[in-house]
Amino acid sequence: METILELKKIVKKFGSLTAVNHIDLKIARGEKVVIVGPSGSGKSTLLRTMNFLETIDSGEIQFEGKPCGYIYKDGNPVLDSQKNLCALRSEIGMVFQQFNLFPHMTVLQNVMEGQVTVLGKSKEEAREVALQMLEKVGLSDRATVYPVTLSGGQKQRVAIARALAMKPKMMLFDEPTSALDPELVGEVFDTIRSLADDGMTMVIVTHNMGFAREVADTVIFMETGDFVAKGAPAEFFSAESQHPRIKEFMDKLL
Ligand code: ADP
Ligand code: MG
Repeated sequence: METILELKKIVKKFGSLTAVNHIDLKIARGEKVVIVGPSGSGKSTLLRTMNFLETIDSGEIQFEGKPCGYIYKDGNPVLDSQKNLCALRSEIGMVFQQFNLFPHMTVLQNVMEGQVTVLGKSKEEAREVALQMLEKVGLSDRATVYPVTLSGGQKQRVAIARALAMKPKMMLFDEPTSALDPELVGEVFDTIRSLADDGMTMVIVTHNMGFAREVADTVIFMETGDFVAKGAPAEFFSAESQHPRIKEFMDKLL
């Protein structure tokens, strides 16, 4: 299978703390990768390096077979020009725990904004795509309202529509349901599941093991910046093959 994103020996430090420790990861086009692990293990930092929101200290990122995001000076990575990064980021959509919608814009304007400012689309074009994406997440009827009037689950679906409107080739989700009341989690996972069914490549950080088991092709357990285990869900969740640290972590979740 064709590799869409490859991380090679990625290191990210914050001062003396190594948040991501020599991580190698190949993601195939269409693959669904779920990353689990305790708080502070480096999951968000790793996801953010994939979208160039964190500058790596060493290593290389390849997108569609080409090194990207960095130029190297004396072997050290330096972030590429803002213009190149913006283009790359539009290919890799990201959805955060906090929805980060613009409060002063309607739902429709939120979903149009990046298309106009980053992709340079006309307002008419952007509106058409935005309406399609709102339809996809089941929120066509909310286009003209402001985010403050939406439930958390609806806000997150708008955030997903906004990311999709950039026509990304892959999507990153960082604990997309962690800020939601339990009864709103299902609608957001349903939306992500339907994207998975469409064949979208995705990396999802979540504590929801049911979702991981159901949707993932690959599950990764991360701790102190390292991958402790990585495998297909059947293997990952089987009691026999389970690493003691993963078992301990999962027992605490229940
Ligand atoms: P997770 O998402 O698994 O909870 P994070 O990637 O957020 O973990 O954090 C990994 C480690 O890096 C933690 O020890 C955290 O405190 C630290 N860290 C994350 N972001 C920063 C930052 N901007 N400055 C300093 N330390 C950070
Ligand atoms: Mg996190």
